[in-house]
Amino acid sequence: MATVIDGKAVAQTIRSEIAEEVRALSQKYGKVPGLAVVIVGNRKDSQSYVGMKRKACAELGIKSFDIDLPEQVSESDLIKQVHQLNVNPDVHVCGKKCMQSGILVQLPLPKHINEEKVLSEISLEKDVDGFHPLNIGKLAMKDRDPLFLPCTPKACIELLSRSGVSIKGKKAVVVGRSNIVGLPASLLLLKADATVTIVHSRTTQPESIIREADIVIAAAGQPMMIKGSWIKPGAAVIDVGTNAVDDPTKKSGYRLVGDVDFEEASKVAGWITPVPGGVGPMTVTMLLHNTLEGAKRCFEKNH
Ligand code: NAD
Repeated sequence: MATVIDGKAVAQTIRSEIAEEVRALSQKYGKVPGLAVVIVGNRKDSQSYVGMKRKACAELGIKSFDIDLPEQVSESDLIKQVHQLNVNPDVHVCGKKCMQSGILVQLPLPKHINEEKVLSEISLEKDVDGFHPLNIGKLAMKDRDPLFLPCTPKACIELLSRSGVSIKGKKAVVVGRSNIVGLPASLLLLKADATVTIVHSRTTQPESIIREADIVIAAAGQPMMIKGSWIKPGAAVIDVGTNAVDDPTKKSGYRLVGDVDFEEASKVAGWITPVPGGVGPMTVTMLLHNTLEGAKRCFEKNH
């Protein structure tokens, strides 16, 4: 039976470490990190993610700045707002003007706004989501390090390393190639010296490729597509997929499942993350970690 990686517990440990570092920064510099969280419109799922992020900031002593914009805000007004935050020292409560702090623009944005254009206007030093094209570009380059790693892929690597799974020299398969999860996860594994294969919606016979993998990161958004028989015995399986499936036994009428058939795969794998309770709780924690890292760079530079 696989060791089930408890994402909630790992996240809690990391959150305590972050809170400790925030206290130390506050004592040393008299300042705490700050994160601007921008939300456009009232999508229920986005409101709930943003609420979680703001609450987590408060719990760890990080100051969050709430910028709530109406659904109809124009692209140029949103970009103006981002520019103001780029030069706002208070986003880091630095006391001095500095370019290092955190800005998060919750996605998706309404259809009339070009997301890539908005993300590329965020100052590189404040890009705590790690979605700026230049941060992603550096992730793709050998011997270069982006200032921030995208949160969900960073969570996957952190879960592997904190579970004692070594990556160097291993065969890794990433299922999915999206800009926010699959692609950056594969680049991170490559940076950690794995031999990486990407499986996507046009891949034929994915099972034979996945069966070779010592490490599987599943991020396809396809409920339970990866069966137990697709997993190499002893492999480490990180399931990013978060899919709602009908379940009349639940009050809500649905339950969340991953991209991996947990019941089958946990009998074969060496390590596996559950859904929920695996990658999910780690993603927000990595955002807070990125915010702390940005603040440390800022405080040290301006000390
Ligand atoms: P996406 O829809 O943008 O990308 C899905 C990718 O999977 C695509 O690259 C596509 O080629 C590939 N794919 C689709 N069907 C496939 C198939 N049958 N076989 C192989 N590949 C296939 O999704 P995303 O934003 O990358 O998210 C992926 C999943 O991860 C979703 O379930 C999402 O809810 C979840 N997610 C979870 C977290 C978290 O913190 N836990 C964060 C982000 C996304």
